[in-house]
Formats: sequence, C-alpha cells, structure tokens
Amino acid sequence: MKKIYDVAIVGAGPAGLNAALQASWLKLSAALIDENIGHIKRLSRIRFADKMYNVPGYHKKSGRDLLKDMEQVLDDHKDCVDRFYESKAISLVRKKGIYSLITKVIKSGLRREIRAKAVIVATGVEDLQPEIHNHPKLKAILPIFPYANSGLVYYCQVCDGSSTAGKSVGVLGHSSETTGLAVSLVENFGARTVSIITHGKKLLQGQDLNQQEKDKIIDKLRRMEIPIYESRIADLYGLREKRFGLVLSDGRKIDFDKGFAAFGWYKINKDLVESFEPKSDVEGFMMTDDDRQLLTSKGKPIEGLYVVGDLTNDWKQVDIAWAHAKTAVLHLWKTYL
Ligand SMILES: Cc1cc2nc3c(=O)[nH]c(=O)nc-3n(C[C@H](O)[C@H](O)[C@H](O)COP(=O)(O)OP(=O)(O)OC[C@H]3O[C@@H](n4cnc5c(N)ncnc54)[C@H](O)[C@@H]3O)c2cc1C
Repeated sequence: MKKIYDVAIVGAGPAGLNAALQASWLKLSAALIDENIGHIKRLSRIRFADKMYNVPGYHKKSGRDLLKDMEQVLDDHKDCVDRFYESKAISLVRKKGIYSLITKVIKSGLRREIRAKAVIVATGVEDLQPEIHNHPKLKAILPIFPYANSGLVYYCQVCDGSSTAGKSVGVLGHSSETTGLAVSLVENFGARTVSIITHGKKLLQGQDLNQQEKDKIIDKLRRMEIPIYESRIADLYGLREKRFGLVLSDGRKIDFDKGFAAFGWYKINKDLVESFEPKSDVEGFMMTDDDRQLLTSKGKPIEGLYVVGDLTNDWKQVDIAWAHAKTAVLHLWKTYL
C-alpha cells in the first residue's frame, strides 16, 4: 500500500518551507516538493533579495541566507519531512478523499505519485522582466538580475522603498502601478529624484483609465518634476560602480543611484489548482477562506486544499507567507487528521 502523507507541500520558498517546519513540529508526515533547488530556471522570489530590512533578524542577511537557514532547521526533522527537490509538480487530483499529486524529476523525467490527506500549494509568482536584447552577453530577461542581486534594483516598495531616501531613482514601467510607485517613492520615502522609463511603451498605454484620469496622473507627475522617458532601453551599465545606468535606444545615457522594476506584472504559478476551478481576484490571484483553503469559483472552500504565500491575493511578503503557512497547517491538523 502506497504511503499516504498527512500533507503534501508544493513549493519550497518561505511559505512552503514554513509549512514543512510547522508540520514537523506537530509530528505530521509531510512531502515537500520543489522544482528548482540548485537550478536557476525558476526560483523562490526571495533569492533576489540581498537584504531583508523588514524581516526581523534578517535586516543584514539575504534571501538566500533565509532559505538556507530554514532548510537547516528542516534537516533536524528528516523523520517527518521527505524532500523531493528538482521535481516539478505537474498535476493534482482528489480521489475518494485523498489527493494524488504527480511530480516529474527535472533531469530524468521520472514520474512519481505522491498521495496525501491534504495539500498546501505554495508555488508563488514570477516577476515579469523587461526584455533588453542588446546586452552583449545576456539575452531577454536576464540583464536586470545582477542589478537586483547587488541591491541596485528593487521590486517591492514595502520591502525596499525606505532605501531610496535621498537617492536618485529610475522606475522602469509604464502602468498605473508604475506611476503610483514613482509618486510614492517621493512622497512617502523621500527619494531625491524619480524618473520613469517606459521601455518603448507610451505611459499608461493599455490601462483601464479614461483620458481625464490619464491627464490627471500625467499632470501630477509634471508638477512633481518626474520626467518620463519613452525610448526603449538598449543596455544597462554601472554594476562595478554600484550605480544603475541605462543606455536608451536614442543613445542617451541616464544614471541613477537605484532602480525599481515596476514592469507591471507577474506570472502566477497556479496551473496545479486550475482544474479545481478556483476563485481568483480581478488580477488573477487565488482567493482563500480565513483558514487558507482555496475557494471554488462559487466561493466554497475546497476541503484540505490550501493555497499560501505570493500566489494569493494578499501582500507579497515573507512574514505574510509564513503566517499563511502556519494557519493552513494548524487548520488541517485540527480538521482533517
Ligand atoms: C527582489 C525581491 C526582493 C524582495 N525582498 C523582500 C523583503 O525584503 N522582505 C519581504 O518580506 N519580502 C520580499 N520579497 C517578496 C518575497 O520574496 C515573497 O513574498 C516570498 O518569496 C513569497 O514566498 P512564496 O513561498 O509564496 O513563493 P516563492 O518564494 O516564490 O517560492 C515558490 C517556490 O515554488 C516553486 N515552484 C513553483 N512551481 C512549482 C511546481 N509546479 N512544482 C514544484 N515547485 C514549484 C519554485 O521553484 C519556488 O521555489 C522580495 C521579492 C523580490 C522579487
């Protein structure tokens, strides 16, 4: 008879790792699956954070440190948690009250069935990056990552807005989130100067705003002396000098202390739960009840199927992901085991 775990957890970012730790402290049997430990194709988002000012105890440490520390605590609980890394979870169904998760080993293609009484999905989101093709070595989305890893480009104003005080900042994007971020960096965080670089798009292009609303935003940017550059970005420079420089396609060079990638959106890693016809918010994030059980499109919680962390319509933060994970584990322990 194949083992039935108390819980299968998909994704070993902060949410999934904390779910595994909480489960092990309750002596539950758990399977923890992650696609990319040791690979660079898809990673926990927190790996791009060089310092986590707003995570107590980690204000001088990186996202990688945090994942390593959590993995080390998990090493002490090998009796409870089986880790299936370098394995992608590819499908999830529920048969006679038991969840059946199919995983595929990345290198060999080997498929495995993992059965569990409950499932926690913590597959997160991926930041969509600007395509900057003219970079000499790197193609497509990659050029921005070394700047993010060096703490020169940020993604999240809640996490890093305060680091822009007194600094010149280039905000990359064209959406209303971009303009809101640019204004907020000046008004809330005291950035010295902010510029918007739309990378070839027209500002507010494709946004669900009427002309009057657009004019109001553009007028505010003008009054705040926030310039808008609508040329494409041809290249980046400044890593060695610890600055964020841009070469525009018209040949202009603009130089900033810091950059903010606000290119607008995420890829939401929700394939695994799509067949359950989940309820999502207008932006596509998964909606849950207070216990973090996924809701169906009709608003009914799905028994024993939890969704936690960035995948949900909540703040995209480590401590929020941790809290989701703990709530889910305590609920499944109390309710289904
Ligand atoms: C540059 C940057 C800086 C940040 N700084 C901070 C900060 O300072 N403070 C803060 O609180 N937050 C910060 N954040 C946000 C934080 O990274 C996220 O809120 C957090 O990582 C969410 O955790 P998660 O576990 O939900 O998702 P993730 O950390 O993204 O983990 C998801 C995991 O699921 C795996 N996965 C996905 N699909 C599958 C599949 N089908 N099968 C198997 N595995 C799968 C992925 O490989 C990944 O490991 C930052 C984010 C970025 C991008």
